Amino acid sequence: MYLADEAWPDLESYFESESLALVPLGSTEQHGPHLPEGTDHIIAESFARAAAEETGYLCTPTVNIGVSSHHRQFHGTMWADAPAFRDYVESVTRNLASHGIDRVVYVNAHGGNVEHLREVGRRLRDDGTMYAIEWMWDESITERIEELFETPGPHGGPKETALIQHLAPELVHEDRIADARDGGLAEFDESTGRVHGARTFYDAIDTTDNGVFGDQTDASADAGAELFTAALDHLCRLCDWLDDQRFDDLLPKGHV
Ligand SMILES: [Zn+2]
Repeated sequence: MYLADEAWPDLESYFESESLALVPLGSTEQHGPHLPEGTDHIIAESFARAAAEETGYLCTPTVNIGVSSHHRQFHGTMWADAPAFRDYVESVTRNLASHGIDRVVYVNAHGGNVEHLREVGRRLRDDGTMYAIEWMWDESITERIEELFETPGPHGGPKETALIQHLAPELVHEDRIADARDGGLAEFDESTGRVHGARTFYDAIDTTDNGVFGDQTDASADAGAELFTAALDHLCRLCDWLDDQRFDDLLPKGHV
């Protein structure tokens, strides 16, 4: 069920019988010369809405702009400052609690949001309002991603390219995929930008000229379809697990 499509009387029975909501979050930021700026929010919303359809749980509208100032040098990137983002997400989540929601899955597709969603989840749990957890789509299927792609890359690489080729092929500039690889940083690993153990970079442009990492020529719509199905299965099962838990068991333990 997608909240924004429903009239309020038709939501009453959901809130009476269920207490879980899926909240999709992404970003609007550069994803290289070949992918749309909406890549992350297209991915997040697709997962959340498909999971809601499959499981019957409620999906809220998507938070389309995230913590993305590290992509600021590229045309069109939008961002919210981290404290404003945290407060906004916390406020939106608290209003779900007023309708009876006591557990939330943040269906996330932007790495820059992760630590902030964890912080919001901690705040809400610490004061007993609800249990909200962050789920990043590629974290549930890391092994399959490593098998499929030689250089997955953390941003604008083959895994995101494949997902958009599957979900919104009309938005992919197929004729720029080789340029994306050649003008970015194909080989990205833990040593990139490190000097004597310190991470010396802050912005994407410090390590990649066109904003992307990885070899995008490995991507295909078929690979995207496979990854989407595999990660969606994890998301649906996560929702069922969360629904099964006793609320008290999800709250912080007492002092020893
Ligand atoms: Zn992305």
